[in-house]
Amino acid sequence: MTLTTHATLGAVIGHTVGTPFLAFLFGFISHFLIDVIPHGDTGLADNYKIHKVKRKTALAYVMVDGIVALFFVLMIANTRDIEMMNAYTWGIIGGVLPDLIVGLYEITKTPLLRWFNTLHFAFHDFFVKRKGDVPLYYAILAQVVLIAYLQTKL
Ligand SMILES: [Zn+2]
Repeated sequence: MTLTTHATLGAVIGHTVGTPFLAFLFGFISHFLIDVIPHGDTGLADNYKIHKVKRKTALAYVMVDGIVALFFVLMIANTRDIEMMNAYTWGIIGGVLPDLIVGLYEITKTPLLRWFNTLHFAFHDFFVKRKGDVPLYYAILAQVVLIAYLQTKL
């Protein structure tokens, strides 16, 4: 999923559970559960791993994704009366942290994070490897709809 989707879901979870620790924990778990849904980015990951020429596109996607997520959660924080800012924040951190760890593993290839990377992609690729992926364009549209719905819960 896009980081904006993970962040927004984490924020809603934080808002719902109300305590920073549970916000972080459930936000973190939510990442794996929602990543199971095929969301069109298998081609991007393969571009990064296999086709070195298309690597720039994959990296640009991640960069745009991260900055859009940052703008979105800051916009909500600055335009809404968020009651429990701590829980909102920790829900977002839990929601996006798995992708940060995967990114750190990709950069460092450290054996310390290999198990986590494997776990992450066990969830991420669960249906995609069996049934195939959906087109990225539709997956992003679906996520825009999901985010539009989720932000009404904040
Ligand atoms: Zn992920």
